[in-house]
Amino acid sequence: MTLLQIRTLGDPVLRQPCTPVERFDGWLRRTVDDMFETMYAAPGVGLAANQVGIGMRFFVYDDGDGRAGFVANPELSDLEGVDTIDEGCLSIPGPFHPTPRSLRLRLRGQDLGGEAFEVLAEGLLARIFQHETDHLSGGLYIDRLDEEGRRDVMRQLRELELKRAERS
Ligand SMILES: [Zn+2]
Repeated sequence: MTLLQIRTLGDPVLRQPCTPVERFDGWLRRTVDDMFETMYAAPGVGLAANQVGIGMRFFVYDDGDGRAGFVANPELSDLEGVDTIDEGCLSIPGPFHPTPRSLRLRLRGQDLGGEAFEVLAEGLLARIFQHETDHLSGGLYIDRLDEEGRRDVMRQLRELELKRAERS
C-alpha cells in the first residue's frame, strides 16, 4: 500500500465537483486501500477522493467507534436537527472551528462491489458523511462558517505556519 499526498487549501482539485464512480474495479479497490492507510496515518476520520487528487465521487471513513467503510456516489436526505461542534479537515491541517451540521440523516450510496445501500446516521457519523459529501461537490467546511469563523480558521492556520517556520 502507498501513502497518498493529501491536497491542501489552495489546490484547485478541492474546489472541483467530482464525477460519479462508474467502474467498481481493481483500481478502485487498490486506491481505497491506499486511502484508508493515508487516512489512518494522518490521522483523520474521513478522506474524500479529491483530497488525494482523484476527481471521483467516493470517500472512506472511520468514526473511531466501530463504524468504518467506503461510499461511492453518496446522496444525503432526511436531514434533521442541528449540532454545532468543533470540526477540522485534513486539507486545512491544524485548525478546528465549531461548525453547524445536521444531527441525523439518511445516506444512500454504493459499496465497493457497486451494490446500492442506505444507512441512517447521527452525531459524528452524520457529520463525517456531510463533511465528505461536501468535499465531493467541491466544498469545504469553512464554507459553512460565517465571515468571522472563516477569519478565525485562517488566523489559526497562519499561527501554525509561523510556529512551524520558527522550528525549522
Ligand atoms: Zn475534509
